[in-house]
Amino acid sequence: MKRLLSLLLLILVCQISFGQTATRAITNITGDLYRFQNNGHYSVFLVTNDGVIATDPINEAAAKWLKDEIRKRFNQPVKYVIYSHYHDDHVSGGKVFDEAKFIGHKLTKKNIIDNKIETPVPDETFAKKKTIKLGGKKVELLYPGKSHSEDCIAVFFPEEKTVFGVDFISVDRLPYRTLNGAFIPDWIEAIKEVEKLDFTVFSPGHGDIGTKTDVKEHREYFETLYAAVKEAKSKGKSLSEMKKTILLEQYKKMSQYDAWREMNIEGVYKALSSE
Ligand SMILES: [Zn+2]
Repeated sequence: MKRLLSLLLLILVCQISFGQTATRAITNITGDLYRFQNNGHYSVFLVTNDGVIATDPINEAAAKWLKDEIRKRFNQPVKYVIYSHYHDDHVSGGKVFDEAKFIGHKLTKKNIIDNKIETPVPDETFAKKKTIKLGGKKVELLYPGKSHSEDCIAVFFPEEKTVFGVDFISVDRLPYRTLNGAFIPDWIEAIKEVEKLDFTVFSPGHGDIGTKTDVKEHREYFETLYAAVKEAKSKGKSLSEMKKTILLEQYKKMSQYDAWREMNIEGVYKALSSE
């Protein structure tokens, strides 16, 4: 009995410690541009001789780990933190970067304040475009219009031909559940704006890294989904009928197809109903 109890206790301790262990990693994208992983969340950072340009801090523990690793590996302070959009699972914990200047879209600033998100309010904001230069390197910020939220931006590294964008474009994976916002036509246009940039690598906030072709495929998925739901709605089809008939089979190989296809239909249906 005693042995059984200690075995159970051991299992419990293992479960607790596993629960607290975050999967964190830094991987090189190209040149001095790196990808930072904290469990299912990702951001990127660019190393220069005058400091580091970081993006989403993700959360306080993640940001502390990242700050230490950057100091150990590159011996550079983080001089800038760029927010991808205001959602707290991506921007929390920014105060860890106490030497940095925070940059975000003007709507990101407004939403961080309005939603009392626990992270520094941007020191500098922009409406359409902004360029940040540090140590001879350059980052271009672009606001492509409303999408997953009203404030998602594209963070473009021209020399590295890489775009970092969060939650409004994913690679080989369906958009998240019921699509969060109700900005579907704008969302499609926003992806088209990103496609105009001269890049070869797309680094999302969740899931795998991809290429420009993956970004195009994501936009085409949206267009197909939107057109199908719009057509079914004009024919008076109910939401449950749409879930049974709009199969989007050409996208079956994409991840979360089984889990999120019906939710995606519901998201568009609701967006159309509120238009
Ligand atoms: Zn989000």
